[in-house]
Amino acid sequence: MMLLTRKMIEIRSLLQTIGQSETLTLPSIVVVGSQSSGKSSVLEAIVGHEFLPKGSNMVTRRPIELTLVNTPKAQAEYGEFPALGLGKITDFSQIQRTLTDLNLAVPEKDCVSDDPIQLRIHSPNVPDLSLIDLPGYIQVEAFDQPTELKMKIQELCDKYIQPPNVILAISAADVDLANSTALRASRRVDPRGERTIGVVTKMDLVDPVRGAQILADRNYPLRLGYVGVVCKIPKDTKSLFSRGSANIINQLTKNESAYFNAHPDTFGDVTTGTPNLRKKLMHVLEATMSASLATTSEAIHHELAEATYEFKVQYNERSLSAESYLAESLDAFKHSFKGFSDIFGRKEVREIVKRELDQQVLNLLAQRYWNRPVDSLRPVDQVTDGSVQQDPISSLPKADPENPLWHLKLDASTSTLTKLGIGRLATTITAQALQESVEGLLHTSTFASHPFTVQAITTASEGILRDLSFDTSDELEICVKPYKYRVEVDSGEWARGRDNIGKVLGRELKDCEAANRAVEEQLGGRRKAKDVLSFIDRVRSGELVIEGSDGVGGAGGFSAALLAKGREALFLRDRADILRLRLAAIKSRQCSNPANKYYCPEIFLDAVADKLTSTADLFLDAELLSKFYYQFPRVLERQFRSLDEGTVERFAREDPKIRRHLDVVKRKELLEHVLKEMEGLRVLEAREKRSSSRG
Ligand code: GDP
Repeated sequence: MMLLTRKMIEIRSLLQTIGQSETLTLPSIVVVGSQSSGKSSVLEAIVGHEFLPKGSNMVTRRPIELTLVNTPKAQAEYGEFPALGLGKITDFSQIQRTLTDLNLAVPEKDCVSDDPIQLRIHSPNVPDLSLIDLPGYIQVEAFDQPTELKMKIQELCDKYIQPPNVILAISAADVDLANSTALRASRRVDPRGERTIGVVTKMDLVDPVRGAQILADRNYPLRLGYVGVVCKIPKDTKSLFSRGSANIINQLTKNESAYFNAHPDTFGDVTTGTPNLRKKLMHVLEATMSASLATTSEAIHHELAEATYEFKVQYNERSLSAESYLAESLDAFKHSFKGFSDIFGRKEVREIVKRELDQQVLNLLAQRYWNRPVDSLRPVDQVTDGSVQQDPISSLPKADPENPLWHLKLDASTSTLTKLGIGRLATTITAQALQESVEGLLHTSTFASHPFTVQAITTASEGILRDLSFDTSDELEICVKPYKYRVEVDSGEWARGRDNIGKVLGRELKDCEAANRAVEEQLGGRRKAKDVLSFIDRVRSGELVIEGSDGVGGAGGFSAALLAKGREALFLRDRADILRLRLAAIKSRQCSNPANKYYCPEIFLDAVADKLTSTADLFLDAELLSKFYYQFPRVLERQFRSLDEGTVERFAREDPKIRRHLDVVKRKELLEHVLKEMEGLRVLEAREKRSSSRG
């Protein structure tokens, strides 16, 4: 029973999943031969299908690690490339195409690559075998095959034909064995011919007697002997069956046995035929596997000791799986989110909403009140008499509270503010602040090094906030509706508004002055700025007339760019003047009284903004924040719990540190498992030996 080979092949597949190390190679049969020696034909005869790349040019550029898995009960025959994840391929011509593509993908300049292609073939018609097909040796250098290629192939083959591998040396009968490249290569590494099987192909091309003599060769004795085969796929087989799907074993065997049976006397004492070759391969591999059990176990022990040491020293024996890593990361993230939700509440919402409304108030004021030159904000009598104004406070506009124009202005501004769409505005900026905070938390969490989860979490919170915002903004709009008709401000609210808008204007003035300084810097300093500004002022006031110019397009010895900057500085200067004036006004006695609201629109509008904010923060806290804080962690939990194993694994492996940790854990666990299997095999092997020696 070829149990050992099968088990060892399974073990090899397991070891391959953790990347087989150099010391952990289980014995294989390595197939070598020169080009056209019939190497592919032999392999295809063993498998029973045409599946290897064909072509006049050298097509095998990478080793093919071919694992044959006998599946006695299954009907279906299929191949799979474990590293490619293409699934089961039942069409062997597709396997052939894939192999061709993989080989052709090796860059021309590299000639060959030692990165093996793994191919597994499952079939009831194949024995359990592990074979490695290598690029064919070049005997005659073609014009397009440089010497370097010859050397590279030789190096590659030499790497594989080392012990404990069995060498399957393919030579064609119509070429003198003395010239066989395969045998020459084998003799270099196996001089006593102990682990080489000689296969002589194309037996039909030489006289049967001569053929039999080759197989009984005494010049190049091999302990495992020679097998003669005829592996030419008959022409009619190719046309009879659709290529790629039908099994050609029967046709080949019929053809081959017809030849050998035609000369029973000649081939009586030598081994011939593909079926015999298969049997030999199975036995030899089984025996080799058996012989290498002890050394392989030792090698696995060694690897395990290394993995265990690394696990201990590097990871302090902290076990880790992709699932546990995900769960821990999610818990930590949820914890930090909880921390955030504890400190981001109504007060914080109030701050961001009010800040936004302060800006809206400033814009409104600029549009409706501060939109004319400074002088127009001053009392008319002082401007017309041309005197320099010393005290803006005492000269506030003597607006008649009965004058409908002043009423209209303030009513219109208030109306603009209350009908701003506060529901949408406040909800949007609060949702944005929440979203930015989530993203901020993400970037300081373990998820930061996982693009996949960053994306998933960002999308999840965006989705929840979008859904919540929809209703919240409509409902909030309804809540602020009364203010759209009438706003009453009491003296306490007025005092707060006065205080707040003073601060807002103060900040705005500072910003304006800073911007002005920056522009002056760009203009080449204060003096230069003054020159440019006074030039523009003179043109504006009509004192200077520049012909054929709009007065600012590169005139007065100043470049157009300089004048454009100058206009900017002028704007900032005017704005700063207005702000200073209004600040002084707000601080004035008149503005301490709500009855004077028409003199002090800034204070009144701030008080209105404050009322709107109070409604908004209360509502947003109850509707947006608390719902988001409740839903978000639960949605994440649900989403992450439903991820499939592959996705969780991919997630965890995105982080190189975690990938290494997971690899060590996996390697250690797998080696422990393999070692146990190996011990079992050794016990079984010893028992079989005992019983066969008794028998
Ligand atoms: P490789 O380059 O070593 O893989 O050689 P192939 O298997 O491609 O065979 C080279 C050529 O020899 C092909 O045309 C095959 O059809 C032919 N060939 C292979 N085996 C036999 C055989 O046993 N008898 C005959 N007559 N031709 C064969």
